Amino acid sequence: MAIEIISTVRQMHRYADAVRAAGKRIALVPTMGFLHRGHVSLMDLAREHADVLIVSVFVNPMQFGPGEDYASYPRDWNRDAQMISDASAECIFAPEPGEMYPEGFQTTVSVDGLSRNLCGQARPTHFSGVATVVAKLFACTKPHCAVFGQKDFQQLAVIRRMVADLNVDVDIIAAPIVREPDGIAMSSRNTYLSAEERTAACGISRALGEVRKLFDAGERTADTLVCVARDIVSADRQARIEYIKICDAETLQDCPEITRPVVMAVAVHYGKARLIDNIILAP
Ligand code: AMP
Repeated sequence: MAIEIISTVRQMHRYADAVRAAGKRIALVPTMGFLHRGHVSLMDLAREHADVLIVSVFVNPMQFGPGEDYASYPRDWNRDAQMISDASAECIFAPEPGEMYPEGFQTTVSVDGLSRNLCGQARPTHFSGVATVVAKLFACTKPHCAVFGQKDFQQLAVIRRMVADLNVDVDIIAAPIVREPDGIAMSSRNTYLSAEERTAACGISRALGEVRKLFDAGERTADTLVCVARDIVSADRQARIEYIKICDAETLQDCPEITRPVVMAVAVHYGKARLIDNIILAP
């Protein structure tokens, strides 16, 4: 059957209502398009949890700060539509910005505590943009469950908190990070990297791998592990480290000694690409 492509909220409501009335389960995979295998893995996982898979493609202006890459964010509608269709999704929701944020729009969702550390320090309005659009995408597509990647670990934490706090009846499913053969986490923004920057950026996953080894050998002091990661990443002079931190995996507060599950989270700039990555360390 041909994939349904929907661009208005009204049509999306009608479609979701009909699916629900037929007693079927809906899974949503929200994306900003320019899809890669990481996105496809989310779609495959979503499939296992529902009868009807909706993939949203929306570059959300609200989650970009001033001077960030909203205008230049990579877009390739034809390729995305083909990939979503190949993943045998039933429906694509691809609204224009004016459909999601019409004249007079003024409501935002913010998840205060979890949004402050890590990416929130350099991107103070980012997570309220994310929480707001995800709340809206849930309202549009009426899913029973939604899949998010662990690559955006803080985003996942923010969404889980939002859903719990606002009593939203959507199961949040986490999908593991998908990497390129050289270890770099797949990202639409990898397209910004020159060949040299790309080689340099492999330092991130090498650093995380080294930290994992030391942790497995018993190292539990965050500073020691952070220093090791910093040394490896900054060995390439193209790397501009925004942060490398070890935080409690639930609260995302800095965690000096690892006595419970933590995330080592990293944001590094190479040229005009800002890349993030993480690993979970659980004693
Ligand atoms: P984006 O299009 O970058 O907003 O990402 C859409 C969804 O795909 C988010 O839930 C991301 O966490 C997830 N995602 C992006 N890259 C990866 C990856 N390499 N592995 C797993 N999930 C990913």
